[in-house]
Amino acid sequence: MRIVRFEENKSPGNARMGVLSADGKSVMAADGGPSAQDLAWYDETSAAFALLRDPKGGSMPIDAVRLLASVARPGKIMCIGLNYRDHAIESKMEIPKSPVMFAKFGTSICGPGDAVVIPLGCEKPDYEAEMAVIIGRRAKHVSKENAMSHVLGYACFNDVSARDFQFADGQWSRGKAPDTFAPIGPYIVTRDEVPNPENLRIALRLNGRTVQDSNTSQLIFGVAELVAFLSRSMTLEPGDVIPTGTPPGVGFAHTPPLWIKPGDKMEVEIEGLGILENPVSAS
Ligand code: ZN
Repeated sequence: MRIVRFEENKSPGNARMGVLSADGKSVMAADGGPSAQDLAWYDETSAAFALLRDPKGGSMPIDAVRLLASVARPGKIMCIGLNYRDHAIESKMEIPKSPVMFAKFGTSICGPGDAVVIPLGCEKPDYEAEMAVIIGRRAKHVSKENAMSHVLGYACFNDVSARDFQFADGQWSRGKAPDTFAPIGPYIVTRDEVPNPENLRIALRLNGRTVQDSNTSQLIFGVAELVAFLSRSMTLEPGDVIPTGTPPGVGFAHTPPLWIKPGDKMEVEIEGLGILENPVSAS
């Protein structure tokens, strides 16, 4: 099942939840649940979620809707840094012995097609293609063996980063969490349709040129391990997002560096998870 948040072109601002048809040509709305901002939608044991499995709100052609960020306002965005072996090497950082987590905020979220806005004073904005894990069931102190039952599914994510802010501050939050620096979408593919999330091709194209091209098989810490690890410190809730790290080829590792600029187009593509496209604009 491919879960979407969307609005009809004829009623902008009215976000709804639904599912994408198998051929991708229409969206079936799930009306009658809580609002599309409500994290209850992502709890796969809830009555709200059951509506997604049997949507009765009517079907509309994909051209009649605009897809929105797959999660409106996650309670937590727990990014994992340096989680691809070869990216850790290109960053001249040691291979971590346990996952390295940093945060983005709910206000960082934007949707497919939305502009990523370079914040005032930022001169080194960069891209990072990532597979995001979306939590669908509350998790606290779960084992690696039970972790996957708490995962709702997966989506494309772009961990947009202001490198000058990130490296100037001694910690990463200001560089990682500006508004619009967490594009997610275009949909969530549920776990049952992704038998092996650790074997998916992942790429990023900048203005049509492939600049990152790898496979999630290169992940140092896999999905189950990350969920179990994080749940030892904090309660994971439906709608929480875990971007799992980026492969090699980010802008700062290019010679000369490849910073994004207004007018650019970024596309994150992950096998089976679609394409997340975002233009870049100035503040
Ligand atoms: Zn990242």
